[in-house]
Amino acid sequence: MEFLAGSLLELITQTSTNLPPDVRAVMSIAAETETPDTQSSQALNIILSNIDMAQEDEGPICQDTGMPTFVVHTPVGVNQLRIKKAIQEAVAEATRLGKLRPNSVDSLTGVNSGNNLGTETPVLHFEQWEDDEIEVKLILKGGGCENKNIQYSLPCELDHMGRADRTLEGVRKSILHAVWQAQGQGCAPGVVGVCIGSDRAHGYELAKEQLFRTLDDVNPDPRLAKLEAEIMEEANKLGVGAMGFGGKASLVGCKIGAANRLPASFFISVAYECWAYRRLGVRLDAATGAITKWLYRDPSRPVERMARGAGFKLTGREVVLTPPLTDAQVRALKVGDVVLINGELFTGRDEVHTYLMKNPAPVDLRGAVLYHCGPVMLKQGDRWSVKAAGPTTSMREEPYQGEIIRKYGVRAVIGKGGMGKKTLAALKEAGAVYLNAIGGAAQYYARTVEKVLGVELMQFGVPEAMWHIRVKNFAAIVTMDAHGNSLHADVEKVTGEVLETLQKV
Ligand code: SF4
Repeated sequence: MEFLAGSLLELITQTSTNLPPDVRAVMSIAAETETPDTQSSQALNIILSNIDMAQEDEGPICQDTGMPTFVVHTPVGVNQLRIKKAIQEAVAEATRLGKLRPNSVDSLTGVNSGNNLGTETPVLHFEQWEDDEIEVKLILKGGGCENKNIQYSLPCELDHMGRADRTLEGVRKSILHAVWQAQGQGCAPGVVGVCIGSDRAHGYELAKEQLFRTLDDVNPDPRLAKLEAEIMEEANKLGVGAMGFGGKASLVGCKIGAANRLPASFFISVAYECWAYRRLGVRLDAATGAITKWLYRDPSRPVERMARGAGFKLTGREVVLTPPLTDAQVRALKVGDVVLINGELFTGRDEVHTYLMKNPAPVDLRGAVLYHCGPVMLKQGDRWSVKAAGPTTSMREEPYQGEIIRKYGVRAVIGKGGMGKKTLAALKEAGAVYLNAIGGAAQYYARTVEKVLGVELMQFGVPEAMWHIRVKNFAAIVTMDAHGNSLHADVEKVTGEVLETLQKV
């Protein structure tokens, strides 16, 4: 098995940095069909540029490289323990090289292992088969979309959809509800993998397994094929749009499977996957571990460039912000404005927010811009360099954000997916704005970083530390302003009304 280590490292690297052709194809269609010059089309343009940048530089498409989940099939007689060890070593090596972000955190102590290894990480599923070769499939599904997974126990009452019975109609309602509830927080446009039936735990596993299908396949069960097509059409009438900005592309894939269930249970498990749908696979020679074939790829088809023209185009109408910001500057902004930030930002996510609630800030945050971001950073000599730096889901900080804005004088928060009523009230009261960056555009934003100026709270690990960076032309959209307006609340309301029209009597 002299080639096994190299093959696995290549699989991880390619999965993290080079989107498969079926995902590229649907994202291309999404960008083509979106109404030009809308916020959603701007978001899609940045996403397309980001896909190109990741592939060109072999950098992570998104900074959240997720929970590495491997599904391995081996011929009878192959030593699975050896493959398990090789996968773990490849994961640690890919992390060291900055292809994966260190994402494995001890759930009791909060300590990050630093190499993506730990209890039950990476996730490994082994099966034997009659084939002569080894097959290894990998999916990297990030936390933002993982948090939007949802499970329904039918019958149940759904917001805007009424009662969902134990019928295919009840399944249809549940899946549409799942797409709606994700809004932009799972980095729409998304893909849903669905399992009808099974038990709670295995149902989620089977839902995720659906994400290993190709987006252009047709379900062999005609009833499910029909349902998949129906969901695709109806979900794209909702108007959630890219990043939840409102628009045509809400869902780019729907894959449904069914499993037997207990008479008493009827679960619908939905695995919500973001646009950064990173899954690939390889077939390996069982004797040498060499790659014999890539899955999800067509070797005869070169990797196509995604961005049209120059990608995201500046119009000259953007508002340039240079922190520290003043009350007057942020109150002049309104929902829909595109801003370009030139200057210093501080990153801060879950650990930083809980820390700031109880402890003094390690830096002066008056007028500052706080970026919800857990970057991929590599130390080269004594200098840090940014390998990926897109926004994380802001809603997790909702319990803390308002107080932190008031207490420290933060003037702008950058993240994705929007925030809730408590934060909106604080923005108005204290004079601050919420800026939505484009989720998953980790390479695009990494290129805006001119310099890493320092780091605080490193005890929380690389993604959770407070990084001090200087950026140039960092583009984001004002989606919550200091006048009580929230694009997220508006889109949720309007799309909820559309959802109601999709009820069938
Ligand atoms: S694209 Fe969004 S949801 Fe997907 S992994 Fe990245 S940040 Fe998370």
